[in-house]
Amino acid sequence: GSVFAHLVQAPEDAILGVTIAYNKDPSPIKLNLGVGAYRTEEGKPLVLNVVRKAEQQLINDRSRIKEYLPIVGLVEFNKLSAKLILGADSPAIRENRVTTVECLSGTGSLRVGGEFLARHYHQKTIYIPQPTWGNHPKIFTLAGLSVKTYRYYDPSTRGLNFQGLLEDLSAAPQGSIVLLHACAHNPTGVDPTLEQWEQIRKLMRSKGLMPFFDSAYQGFASGSLDTDAKPIRMFVADGGELLVAQSYAKNMGLYGERVGALSIVCKAADVAGRVESQLKLVIRPMYSNPPIHGASIVAVILRDRNLFNEWTLELKAMADRIISMRKQLFEALRARGTPGDWTHIIKQIGMFTFTGLNPAQVSYMTKEYHIYMTSDGRISMAGLSSKTVPHLADAIHAVVT
Ligand code: PMP
Repeated sequence: GSVFAHLVQAPEDAILGVTIAYNKDPSPIKLNLGVGAYRTEEGKPLVLNVVRKAEQQLINDRSRIKEYLPIVGLVEFNKLSAKLILGADSPAIRENRVTTVECLSGTGSLRVGGEFLARHYHQKTIYIPQPTWGNHPKIFTLAGLSVKTYRYYDPSTRGLNFQGLLEDLSAAPQGSIVLLHACAHNPTGVDPTLEQWEQIRKLMRSKGLMPFFDSAYQGFASGSLDTDAKPIRMFVADGGELLVAQSYAKNMGLYGERVGALSIVCKAADVAGRVESQLKLVIRPMYSNPPIHGASIVAVILRDRNLFNEWTLELKAMADRIISMRKQLFEALRARGTPGDWTHIIKQIGMFTFTGLNPAQVSYMTKEYHIYMTSDGRISMAGLSSKTVPHLADAIHAVVT
């Protein structure tokens, strides 16, 4: 018999499993609101025009080779990524206090950052919001950190539990790591206001809590790259240290290229240099060095003023379509007189709406309406179109009345 015969069948990933179930459904009216990927009004995946142009440029350049990148990845990509998230005029960049390494999208950046902290930071506990992206606790546990949660979402208001958040961070041991969603919190769509961020910053700095920002949606929330980066820049402006994991999956549509970056902002240039030397020791035995293609696309776009401007317009168009879907769904429920307060649909930010539907309601909607979403009631607004809004509104109306 096989030496693996004792293995039990592992369950599908809670998020990726939704698409597997969707693909098996033969119904012509089926609707997948589980995927965290942008779709056009026609329900199709989108390759940005600037990405096509950048790829054309790369193909035409016959001097390009396929050698290994350094362990830290494409150096120009790293510099441009730090500028994008911290701001072109960031004092930390000017003072050479930032080290940036190319990683395998947001997930890889979080994992490398987690492993670095587990090896070299004095506190091994990371606080993550309750709830958060389902992969967070697994990434950080396997990185060697101990995972605890802080209160974040208040189901009764479908908004931020700001008091609970402050209490939990106040009670965290000195120096603990805190995972913060930079913008467009997944799965709740609930972000602190800038005033609340300022209070969070003061509290965290006074207790020496280490911020680890997860920036998976820069530009996708508000439509502006700078606006969405503001919370991070507030923490950089005070001169303190932090980590930030960036992903180009959503904002450049480079999902499968697996391109992202981990930046660590330090207090001094010599420290940043030593941090980078240790990051290389984390990366080398994990995957040796990162892939070249996605990072090259990003570098072409970020270094060229025209392509960059074109990108910001395409990004804004994606963000605007999502915001328009929020309005259309809200209006459709209002038109049906669906009981309950649905204003959270237009208040929440980013790709997802946390509907407040419970697992039984979700399962009813899947069975009767062929609408697929995670069991926590999270729907991807990017998976919706003007054509499918009425179907979703009918289903929600049916399930709550
Ligand atoms: N963080 C959050 C909050 C996310 O929603 C995602 C993607 N769903 C990621 C990180 C990582 O995505 P990727 O590895 O594809 O960049």
